[in-house]
Amino acid sequence: MKRELLEFLTCPNCDSDLELRGEQLELDDVAAGELVCENDHAFPIVRSVPRFVPGDSYADAFGLEWTAFRTAHLKQFTGLDYLDRQFQDCLDFDLSALAGKTVLDAGCGLGRFSEVVLNHGGKVVAVDLSRAIDAAHENLREREGIHFLQADIFRLPLKPEQFDLVYCWGVLHHTPDPPGAFNQLPQLVKPGGKLMAFVYANYNKAYLATTEFYRRLTTRLPQRLLLKLSYLAIPLYYVGKIPVAGPFITRILLPVSVNPPTHRWRVGNTFDLYSPEYAFTYDHVDVHKWFEEAGFEQIRPVAPGGGIVYIGTKPPSGEISWD
Ligand SMILES: [Zn+2]
Repeated sequence: MKRELLEFLTCPNCDSDLELRGEQLELDDVAAGELVCENDHAFPIVRSVPRFVPGDSYADAFGLEWTAFRTAHLKQFTGLDYLDRQFQDCLDFDLSALAGKTVLDAGCGLGRFSEVVLNHGGKVVAVDLSRAIDAAHENLREREGIHFLQADIFRLPLKPEQFDLVYCWGVLHHTPDPPGAFNQLPQLVKPGGKLMAFVYANYNKAYLATTEFYRRLTTRLPQRLLLKLSYLAIPLYYVGKIPVAGPFITRILLPVSVNPPTHRWRVGNTFDLYSPEYAFTYDHVDVHKWFEEAGFEQIRPVAPGGGIVYIGTKPPSGEISWD
């Protein structure tokens, strides 16, 4: 970790400041050591990442997914603009307004959108519950302006109102209590700042019924076996191109990921569909209400077509320029 990360951190147990102890430096990077508060709550720094959780817990599948697919998404590996377009679709301002902004990536996975923010001049604190944080660190450690930490969204060790933008993309529905997880985020947003969240939609009932049917089995399979089965996404991608019957097969009969631009990416997304312990779904009314009850303004649905994605502004709006 870089020392500047300390400015953002607070003890998740008692809310007091944390300080570095026993640090081992590699150039300006703290590779090992401990973060300790005045009440002796201590959190280790392992492989350059502060760890605020003992293990992966319910997010274990994501650790394997992101380790197996570490290089499948980021622009630095694929050369594709797909993620820039996907992230832009989820915002109500232009990506160029990220320049100089401080951003929290709550559930960063391997850092796909953290990379987009960095590429547009933003600074990022990237958090993940799972070992995916090590993949994100490996992918983006050379970049300026990014910090990494492993922590639970229900106990984030972060001081309030430090972020211009907080986003939580594809994460809340995989927690045991999505509305409760969402409610951890508003306090982290600066006045005038924005919060964006993406959760699974519950509109396609046939799709949901078959995926839930398979998930009862797949969430119990050894993950490496499930990973092998996820390679079905490759032949089924071509089956999905057959008029009428294709979409019926890949969207209802045997749902697999067909939208992302590469085979590996689709295999990873298919694994993501069948592996997590929790996969809750929501409608527009639910998610709009979360933002409304948290006191947000200018609440808007974005990214039509994929999941339920909302963005809102914390009042008083106008405190931060998004032009
Ligand atoms: Zn403490």
